[in-house]
Amino acid sequence: MDALPQQSPQQPWKAAWSATEERLLSNAGRTAVRATVAGRTSRVSKLDSDLLDDELTDMLREPMSKAMSLLQPQAVDTYKLEVDTAIKAVLFWLSAGSSLRRATYGQGLQNLAYESSGRGDVVQRLRVFGVVSIGGAYVWSKALSYVSLKGWADAPRGSMRRRVWQALERVERVARVATLINFLAFVGAGQYKTVLERLLGLRLVYARPQVSHSVSFEFLNRQLVWHAFTEFVMFALPLINAARARRWAVRNARSVLGLPPVAVDPAVAALPDHVCAICYSAAADPADECVAVNPYSARCGHSYCYVCIKTRMMAEAGECACLRCGQHVDRIWQRI
Ligand SMILES: [Zn+2]
Ligand SMILES: [Zn+2]
Repeated sequence: MDALPQQSPQQPWKAAWSATEERLLSNAGRTAVRATVAGRTSRVSKLDSDLLDDELTDMLREPMSKAMSLLQPQAVDTYKLEVDTAIKAVLFWLSAGSSLRRATYGQGLQNLAYESSGRGDVVQRLRVFGVVSIGGAYVWSKALSYVSLKGWADAPRGSMRRRVWQALERVERVARVATLINFLAFVGAGQYKTVLERLLGLRLVYARPQVSHSVSFEFLNRQLVWHAFTEFVMFALPLINAARARRWAVRNARSVLGLPPVAVDPAVAALPDHVCAICYSAAADPADECVAVNPYSARCGHSYCYVCIKTRMMAEAGECACLRCGQHVDRIWQRI
């Protein structure tokens, strides 16, 4: 009789490991793919960061303009481009130009920072980026305004000025087309927001990858709800008769407390039936007779001059309270 083959005690472990190892490796591969997908930066954050930077420039321009207008009122308009360029340059120098931040203030708020795609110092590239994007834009707009002011476009055909103007126009057109193509590529791939970033290989990535990147719409939602609410109030407010609503509230509050609908003066309540209480209250001398002229009665049976009670009702949106008993008066009848 053959003896059973002797198994070493390690063999079952080995078989289990080789079966598990394969599964583990495939799982690791899947999580790596997920990590790279999550590592992509949001396009919305990149575009929002530009808006935030523009807002910041606007906020700083205002006090500068005010200060300049105190010195020389027309200087604000004359040097608008210079002031803007100076503000942008200072902001860029203090934010993206520093080796610690590598991002403008707007990008910092969106948790973004620049990273160079190839080898090379990112700070050096950022400085070139700043000089070209801010300084270059300034020189370009100055050149364009100079050429158009001097009328180089209308210079004789073939002259030097005309050729310079044509060259500038061609460069402008090429730049616009390149910007459009780059933007379409940005929408597709989400990598480089501007042509200059693409040329310098400057990519925006998350400064702290562990922070949540989801765009919060909470503020937007709140804004929408508030907007809808104010729209509704604006629509509903003219439909509400404030005086009538107040009287209704007072009447109900007094009935809850067990009081008559309005406070009644006992002297007025005790007047003889033929006296108009409104005339009596308005009279300089309360001892006056104030007999009701063309008397009209309310539902409660108390009489007033027609003019007195009608005027009072019209002044209070079609209804008022009886001065003698405090009852609600919305209709009157001629007393025969
Ligand atoms: Zn009267
Ligand atoms: Zn009455």
